[in-house]
Amino acid sequence: MAPKAVIRYADWSLSVDESGSGPIYETECTTCGRQSGAAESKDEPEDWCLRHAGLTGHTGFRATTTSFFRAALVVVR
Ligand SMILES: [Zn+2]
Repeated sequence: MAPKAVIRYADWSLSVDESGSGPIYETECTTCGRQSGAAESKDEPEDWCLRHAGLTGHTGFRATTTSFFRAALVVVR
């Protein structure tokens, strides 16, 4: 009888992926849905919120930070 599944146990670790981009920051107006655009610093999205508030009177914003992680198999010797 052939096995239906192979189950393997292994230890994995998760760490920040430094091989590519760093975190990406973006903000969005919760009133009209306009977005700041993605940036590698949170300064630009935060400045966009202040400019948008000044132009429109909209005062609510959602901030999103996207970070990248990499899983790696832990080698036990
Ligand atoms: Zn708005």
